[in-house]
Amino acid sequence: MSRRKFTTGRLVIASHNPGKVREIAELLAPFGAEVVSAGELKLPEPEETGRSFVENAELKARAAALATGWPALADDSGLAVEALGGDPGIYSARWAGPARDFSYAMKKIEKALGDSADRRAHFVCALSLAWPDGHVESFEGFVHGTLVWPARGNQGFGYDPMFLPNDHSETFGEMDPQAKHDISHRARAFRLLVDACFRH
Ligand code: IMP
Repeated sequence: MSRRKFTTGRLVIASHNPGKVREIAELLAPFGAEVVSAGELKLPEPEETGRSFVENAELKARAAALATGWPALADDSGLAVEALGGDPGIYSARWAGPARDFSYAMKKIEKALGDSADRRAHFVCALSLAWPDGHVESFEGFVHGTLVWPARGNQGFGYDPMFLPNDHSETFGEMDPQAKHDISHRARAFRLLVDACFRH
């Protein structure tokens, strides 16, 4: 499949999260992208009305590219639990309530699972690169695992302490951050994006 390449110049990161923007800027530094964030440009945050991770990433990337006239990169991610039909999925942040309390969100998942024997789950990360003419390239990365209870570890963020990746003995909450970065859904989506759109 032929993918449109990012050439050089400005790239808007369609995120208002400074941590995320810094991480993305570092990842793309070797490829000549002059990174600027939606937060710095004071762009409004579009409502995430998509029905999938990719739809949400695409609508955020498109909105930023149209508003600025530069290519824009957006992501959307979350945890999908098999026995819950993919929930919390695109609502992963919302399950943590307005206070973004993830120990509450993890308890909610555990409660919903009840005594289900199926504890499989996967993290998903969608990345979309949009151009001002409306063209968009999207990529998805996954990491599969099972949910443990009680949750373990205080590294990472969000649902990390209850997620045990397949073929590992430590949860994402216990793992050294670099070890998580090597296998995470985000790292996988980034490798696909970089290989397709940033390497010439
Ligand atoms: P967003 O893509 O920044 O909106 O993130 C959605 C939500 O998914 C986050 O608030 C986290 O709860 C969850 N999430 C996404 N990636 C991870 C991860 O790597 N570890 C734990 N939780 C995650």
